Amino acid sequence: MGKPTGFLEYDRKLPQDRSPEERMKDWGEFHTHFDIEELKTQGARCMNCGVPFCHTGSPIEGGCPLGNLIPEWNDLVYHGKIEEAYKRLSMTSNFPEFTGRVCPALCEGSCTLGMHEPAVTVKNIEVHIIDTMFAEGKVQPRIPRKSTEKRVAVVGSGPSGLACADILNQLGHKVTVFERSDRIGGLLMYGIPNMKLDKKIVQRRVDLLEKEGITFVTNTEIGKNYSSASVIKEFDAVVLCCGATKPRDLVCEGRNDVKGIYFAVDFLKANTKSLLDSNLEDRQYISAEGKDVIIIGGGDTGTDCVGTAIRHGCKSVHQIEIMPEAPECRTAANHWPQWPRIRKTDYGQEEAIKLYGRDPREYLTTVTKVVPDEKGNIKEVHTVQVEWENNNGRMTPKPIEGTEKIWPCQLMLLAMGFTGPEDTLIKQLSLETDARSNVKAEYGKYATSLKGVFAAGDMRRGQSLVVWAIHEGREAAKACNEYLNQK
Ligand SMILES: Cc1cc2nc3c(=O)[nH]c(=O)nc-3n(C[C@H](O)[C@H](O)[C@H](O)COP(=O)(O)OP(=O)(O)OC[C@H]3O[C@@H](n4cnc5c(N)ncnc54)[C@H](O)[C@@H]3O)c2cc1C
Ligand code: SF4
Repeated sequence: MGKPTGFLEYDRKLPQDRSPEERMKDWGEFHTHFDIEELKTQGARCMNCGVPFCHTGSPIEGGCPLGNLIPEWNDLVYHGKIEEAYKRLSMTSNFPEFTGRVCPALCEGSCTLGMHEPAVTVKNIEVHIIDTMFAEGKVQPRIPRKSTEKRVAVVGSGPSGLACADILNQLGHKVTVFERSDRIGGLLMYGIPNMKLDKKIVQRRVDLLEKEGITFVTNTEIGKNYSSASVIKEFDAVVLCCGATKPRDLVCEGRNDVKGIYFAVDFLKANTKSLLDSNLEDRQYISAEGKDVIIIGGGDTGTDCVGTAIRHGCKSVHQIEIMPEAPECRTAANHWPQWPRIRKTDYGQEEAIKLYGRDPREYLTTVTKVVPDEKGNIKEVHTVQVEWENNNGRMTPKPIEGTEKIWPCQLMLLAMGFTGPEDTLIKQLSLETDARSNVKAEYGKYATSLKGVFAAGDMRRGQSLVVWAIHEGREAAKACNEYLNQK
């Protein structure tokens, strides 16, 4: 423990984000870094708890799923030993530069200090450690010393696929990652926008993994332009990391008769691709410029759509959310060390407040109808407020008469989550699925119903977080390695 009285002496502080006015004009990242002296002070706040909940990683009670050695690196950072801190960090985490940027920080939600004081700034300390190491050239390719000559195919290059490939490669297996998109990274590349996670950061890690011996094959969809049977035959084992990419659709009058309604990921992906290909000059994206934009869904994906629409120069932006607004503080039912389900004003909302003078979120509201103009393009969105009713133990939304509203809209984005993985590959391989249509593979074992085929990440657990995907990728790699060693 760096400084025994640190948590009593110092307040939680984070580096100042770039201001909304400034950052709305570009696609650059909005988080900034502390200087080392301020970072040490923040490291000093860690109490090095006897039972540090920050790194427990329970799906119910929270904490870091990777089991990051958080108290150890907080202490090392306090003593200015960043390289030592990095050694600890890289023992449990493949890609701290991703989680240090995009993780909601489950560790901070369960930090003991958070019971009475604001939590330790674990996520900021993490990103500082890894960014410093990259800047100082201390993150170098680790070429595996031995080769088992066993061949593994990893299908899908999101965080679970990349973590899995990294571990298997370091264990000496010959790893090929197949990706149907033109760039590697899954939702790290083509979901999360550039201002939250600069794509150069993703590409830097992919380049490193390639130098370490992993083969990446893009524009190749297993089950479509490369047969699933061939993959099974050509490789000693297969790990499926294809994500949960089936978006939830809107059910309302007019949904199928109106143009100008898009799924959030299609909107975000096209934007990032065009940004990377041509700095948006090819115009190969869905533009929100000059439009009244309605986003269905008040979550993080909706926030990313708000930030992107604002950068296009939209006329107005609103987020329609059927659930009530979260409370300011934890409720009795949401006790520490669980993840705090409290109100959060994220970067997209901050920017909308600055630009339009109000929070874009409309709670307890649902869409009843979408109306086209004479050319069939979306013109209006009809909504109604709801109240949640308990019907024999099942909560259902009930429309409130007299609260109907009509919104002008020329672009609607659906950010209502995902219903599960696509089923082409699942059907071709006759894989068993669970009740939520995810690939059935027991947590901790990751083996599917087909011998030698494993599954990890959102494809196995359903829509989740980058940190859980990395955890599953790591664990699936270990299970796959055991299988290969016995083969
Ligand atoms: C817009 C958006 C923003 C998000 N923001 C955050 C955030 O800020 N923080 C956070 O923690 N989580 C966030 N998430 C969730 C997080 O991105 C996912 O939980 C995580 O990426 C899942 O990783 P994965 O590896 O399982 O799958 P994915 O990242 O979905 O990757 C799956 C990959 O498999 C490829 N693929 C699928 N089928 C095939 C096939 N047959 N052949 C070849 N390739 C295939 C896909 O093209 C894709 O690249 C966000 C999600 C979205 C949609
Ligand atoms: S729970 Fe918080 S205070 Fe305790 S060791 Fe972890 S980061 Fe430090």
